[in-house]
Amino acid sequence: MTTSVYDPTTYTMFVRDISEIKDGITSILVLTKDSDLHQEVTKKMQKNDVDDSLYLVDIEDQESKLISSLQSIEQIKKDLKTDCLIFLNKKAGSLEYISHRPKPESKYDWLDVAKAFKEHYGMSEADDSGYWRWGQIVPEDGEYLCLDCGYIEDLSAGEIFPVCEVCLAGDPEGPLSVRDGFWEKI
Ligand SMILES: [Zn+2]
Repeated sequence: MTTSVYDPTTYTMFVRDISEIKDGITSILVLTKDSDLHQEVTKKMQKNDVDDSLYLVDIEDQESKLISSLQSIEQIKKDLKTDCLIFLNKKAGSLEYISHRPKPESKYDWLDVAKAFKEHYGMSEADDSGYWRWGQIVPEDGEYLCLDCGYIEDLSAGEIFPVCEVCLAGDPEGPLSVRDGFWEKI
């Protein structure tokens, strides 16, 4: 079997050590090798352009040094027992936590979610209607209203705009696409 971008039989996209990860904003999809999620992601990687800052980590790989590095990050420790999509900034040889999403499911396009996050993280303006997207950085402290359900959340400058915990806007399972703006400053 040969593919130009990804060959699961040669373990190509799985990383086991920090040194294999490029500097900058990166996403790591932690999953179990040969699971439904892995097979789904593999199919998509074979079909699409691979985002070269997305890496896979096999949670059951006993020899992975990267898993211990990830487990030492306070914010993701409790979610790392199972599949997880993690956004990090690699600099000076270490991994800085940005955000993460627990329990990705194979029915969602997690490659697209990872790509959307990176786009949003670099956007410093609300969209044309004044709404902020999941993954953007909150510009100022205050109350933000969810366009979809009217839920109000208190957010602090510098944190990441979350998924709406009530209607799940910003989540693949929610009412809006991961690329839609839905938080408005009130
Ligand atoms: Zn909502």
